[in-house]
Amino acid sequence: MNLSIKKQGLLIVISGPSGAGKGTICKALIEKEKDLKLSISATTRQPRAGEVDGKNYFFKSEEEFKRMIEEDAFLEWAKVYDHYYGTPKEFVLKNLEEGNDVVLEIDIQGALKVKEKFPEGVFIFILPPSMEELRNRIKKRGTESEEEIIKRFKSAYEELNYVSKYNYVVINDDVDRAVEKIRAIIIAEKCRVDRNKDLYLKIREESV
Ligand code: 5GP
Repeated sequence: MNLSIKKQGLLIVISGPSGAGKGTICKALIEKEKDLKLSISATTRQPRAGEVDGKNYFFKSEEEFKRMIEEDAFLEWAKVYDHYYGTPKEFVLKNLEEGNDVVLEIDIQGALKVKEKFPEGVFIFILPPSMEELRNRIKKRGTESEEEIIKRFKSAYEELNYVSKYNYVVINDDVDRAVEKIRAIIIAEKCRVDRNKDLYLKIREESV
């Protein structure tokens, strides 16, 4: 009996305040789950030391970014801390269509926009273990000015209110543990009845 049914991939949105550790978690997740496709965002912010164009981000001028908005090239875009960030649409739609699971690591404004278009996506909110730890993490990064750090901390504090819009919350007290929780969420989501209607209808048909 052949039960292979081509299904759309899962759209996994990993979001939460700056400093919660989304980036580290996503990197570790992709290393464990090689089949997941991580979307690379476009941004107008300057590359940080060690960041590579086309790997960490597609670094764009404001003019290029605005052209992409006009061309409707983004699934979502947002202005985060004075810079533009956006998810290129084509990569995401193509992979989902081909049945690949796609991960977006984006801010909360972006996640809410994606939720409007893809309510069937899996929305995971990453929480820092404490506000003190969050402040330390934002500071430790050392790439932002004092003013920028205060701005990020304040908005992170307000952003915690949005957790109720998400399907899951994962506390990032330990990266490996957080990654294991996300892997468990993905497995559970793939087993949901509403994602497997075709499969069980097929099994039922073939057994009579
Ligand atoms: P950073 O400048 O520290 O790399 O990222 C700043 C914030 O922008 C983070 O919260 C990150 O998740 C978010 N971000 C990165 N890419 C995107 C994107 O494509 N869309 C949106 N809305 N946010 C993004």
